[in-house]
Formats: sequence, C-alpha cells, structure tokens
Amino acid sequence: MDTNLPVTSQPRIVIVGCGFGGLRLAKELADAPVQVVVIDRNNYHNFQPLLYQVATGALEADNIAYPIRKIFAGQHNFFYRMADVQRIHPASNTVITNIGDIRYDHLVLATGSLTNFFGLESIERNAMQIKSIPNALNLRSFLFQNFEKALLKEDPAARQALMNVVVVGGGPTGVEICGSLAEMRKDVLPKDYPELDLKQMEIYLIEAGGEVLGPMSKESQQKAKKYLEDMNIHIRLNTSAKRFEDCKLYTSDTEFIRTENVIWAAGVNGADIPGLPEAVVARNKRVNVDHVNRVQGTTNIYAIGDLANMITEEMPRGYPMLAPVAIQQAEQLANNFKRFMRGEAMKPFHYVNKGSMAIVGRNRAVVDLPGDKHFGGFLGWLTWLFVHLMTLVGFRNKIVTFVDWATSYLSSDKALRLIIRPYKRSDFKDDKGKANAEHMNSTPQYNPTPPAIQEPVKTQA
Ligand SMILES: Cc1cc2nc3c(=O)[nH]c(=O)nc-3n(C[C@H](O)[C@H](O)[C@H](O)COP(=O)(O)OP(=O)(O)OC[C@H]3O[C@@H](n4cnc5c(N)ncnc54)[C@H](O)[C@@H]3O)c2cc1C
Repeated sequence: MDTNLPVTSQPRIVIVGCGFGGLRLAKELADAPVQVVVIDRNNYHNFQPLLYQVATGALEADNIAYPIRKIFAGQHNFFYRMADVQRIHPASNTVITNIGDIRYDHLVLATGSLTNFFGLESIERNAMQIKSIPNALNLRSFLFQNFEKALLKEDPAARQALMNVVVVGGGPTGVEICGSLAEMRKDVLPKDYPELDLKQMEIYLIEAGGEVLGPMSKESQQKAKKYLEDMNIHIRLNTSAKRFEDCKLYTSDTEFIRTENVIWAAGVNGADIPGLPEAVVARNKRVNVDHVNRVQGTTNIYAIGDLANMITEEMPRGYPMLAPVAIQQAEQLANNFKRFMRGEAMKPFHYVNKGSMAIVGRNRAVVDLPGDKHFGGFLGWLTWLFVHLMTLVGFRNKIVTFVDWATSYLSSDKALRLIIRPYKRSDFKDDKGKANAEHMNSTPQYNPTPPAIQEPVKTQA
C-alpha cells in the first residue's frame, strides 16, 4: 500500500516532520522537479519557542500552531499525510507508518527532539514537560487545578506545596517559563485567588551548571539572573534534581523542596526513528550526518535540525538545537537537491549565527548579537517581541498574538486560565506529544517484511 500518493515520474522526496526544518525544506522545493511528501503526526506546525506562553495562559494554542495543509495550499508538488512514522526500511527505500508504507527516492528526517529525563524515572513519571501543544495545555490545566485544590487545604504545608513551582533547567525555556510564572504570581493570581496568600507561592529555578542561559554571553547570563532575582525567583545553581516523589523534589544539595509542580526543561534527545544503522545514532539519539546533512553510510537519507548531529571544526559537539539551525539546514538541503537534479555537486552547510535572545518578563529580555554585542532591558524586550512576531507562521497568528500581547501589556493580565481538560499526574508519562497519532486507531505494528515496492525505485548516483 502506498497511501494513495499519486504515481509520478519525478523523484519523490519524503520529509518526516513539519517543524521548522521540514516546513522550510518543503517550501523551498516548491519550484523543484520533485514530488514532495510531508509526513507529520500532527496536522499543524508548532512554534515551540512560544509554548511556555500557552502553558502560562498568555497565548492561545491556536496562536502558535498553523495547519500544514493551509501553509502549502497552492503548492502543486506538495502532498501531506498525517501519520506516525514508526520505522525506516532503507533496503527497500520505504518508511513504515501507522497508515501504511510510503516509498521514497530521497528521505529527509526532520523529527526534532524529545525530552530527556536522563533516566530519572520518578521525575519522568511525575514532572511536567513542555515540548508540544498538548504538554503546554496540560501544564496550564495542572497549575490552575492545583490552585483550585490549594483553596480547599487547611494544612499550610500542603497548601503551599500545591502553589510552589520548581523549574528544572536554566536554559532559555526554563528562564522564560520562570519569568512568566513570576508575572502570573504578581498580576494574575491575586485577582483570581484573593483567598490565597500568594506570598507563600515560591518559584525555584534549579540548574546543574554554574550559570543560567549557558550558551549565551556572560553579560546576558548575569543580566538574566539579576532580572530573575528581582522577580523573587529562587535560583539554585550547581544543583541537580535527583528524585520527585510524594510532592518532594530531592536535589543534589541533599535538601528537598515541597511542591506538586515540577516542570522539566533540562534536556532533550534527538527523536530518532528505528531502522537506521546503530552506528549512526549518537549517545544523545541525534543522527550523525556529513557536511551536506546526509546520514553517514547512506546514499539517499538525510537528517536536518535538532535530529542532525553534524560535527565540524567550528562545532565539535554538533550544532545547537535551535530553530535557525533547522531552517538554514533546510534551505541548504533544498538548494543541494536542486543542484543534484541538475547533475551538480552538493555544497557543504555553513551556519550563519544571527544572534540569540531570551525574555524574562515585561521590559526584560537579553539579546546577544554576532560581534560580541549585547543588550537587554526594554530594547531587548522589544527586539524579542518583534522577532517572534515576525517568525510566527500565518498572518492571523501574527495579528492575534500582537493583540493578545498588547492587551496583556496594557492590562497586566492574562486572559487564558481555562481548565479545558483536567489533567492528572498518572497521565504524565504517556504524554509524549503524540496526541493526534493516537486518534488513528489503525496503528499496525511494524511488519518486518515490508510489502513489495509497487513503483520503480530510482537510486542516487
Ligand atoms: C519550549 C521550547 C522553547 C524553545 N525556544 C527556542 C527559541 O527561543 N529559539 C530557538 O531558536 N529555538 C527554540 N527552541 C528549539 C526549537 O524549537 C527547535 O530547535 C526546532 O523546533 C527544531 O526544528 P526541527 O525541524 O528539527 O524539529 P521540530 O520543530 O521539533 O519538528 C519536528 C516535527 O516532527 C514531527 N515528528 C516527530 N517524530 C515524528 C514521527 N515519528 N512521525 C511523524 N512525525 C513526527 C513532530 O510532530 C514535529 O512536527 C525551543 C524548543 C522548545 C521545546
């Protein structure tokens, strides 16, 4: 079965994942003489950098997601299948999905990353993660459910545990979520819960390294730390989380913090798919690729973005897992496919670092630009807002997000504290962002002998 994709004499490029990398690659191939097939388990593109705003009630989920079919409306060589890719079968140039097998001439893996709990089983079972829209909505529900529960508690320690939040991981996601929670504590919660003493709500940021915002400049790290401290966030550096049980988070400094709410933002692994040679999957589950993003030891399989482990002299530990890296690798690969179709040699990837930034709160953000330039404060905050607004997919999303931000800036309020679908701790471990794939009940297990290929397979020279 080939999932009813049209038969064509043009080479078929199958892209798994329509995140930052997959989306850009498919767009850039609009004018190429190829058939582009995108497979994603979700029928929308998710703008992950703003997930934390959905989790803290600042933005609606619809503002940061955009339907894949709408993005590509009018692109004649584009086909989409909503499916979960379960395995690759390189010998037959096929991917095995829960809706059937799909043949490729060239395969591009753009599956991103998954949360890495570093084998800390109790944390994986009990902490919240923030990698997908369902995660963010669940986190929002869970936090507000716990405030509702706190109202009912007479025991002050139990009440405080329901209100306390610990964020583990002091990278941009951890810093941004802490800032957003602090603003919620100051501006939103006192209006909704006048019966609770919100001075008792403590927010902790736990970081195993010696600074917050590890990959950024010293200036930005120090500025961000000061912003967080001014917002009454307790920062514990050189501290790792060890265990989270019975509403107690145990850390390496032998203490525990009493809390019901632990948000894990401490690490990610590549979202690899079974079927590639074991030797090409690195320890962090990223896939080793060469300088044109081709998976080592293969001729027609590529990986881009968070999944790609490209080691260069400039980047001996691989490129950072950032949206601009995924986008630039996609652009380069699209150009290389076009070169390949013309019989020309592919060109190696070079990353252009355009800077990095993180927001901490109202009028507080830090920005690093190439050439060792840094700034923060109101200007940094405006820059952050502008860049994120411009990179959001879809005109509607830009407008609605701008209006939401302007309204909450003027009113110091966030409107979205709905508990749409109550969430319980026992759901945590299964919540891997595969929500939509689960609707497709046809999920067959991988068949180790894939069906015969129905179309002639072109091989790469
Ligand atoms: C909370 C958060 C905040 C972030 N903030 C920033 C930031 O401020 N700046 C920045 O540059 N980067 C940020 N990042 C990182 C950035 O989002 C990633 O680097 C970027 O999304 C990587 O793009 P990608 O194309 O490799 O993968 P993704 O964008 O993650 O896309 C992967 C896609 O593959 C699909 N998929 C995965 N596996 C399968 C499968 N087996 N079958 C079918 N479909 C599959 C997924 O549904 C998804 O749509 C943030 C990430 C998170 C989680």
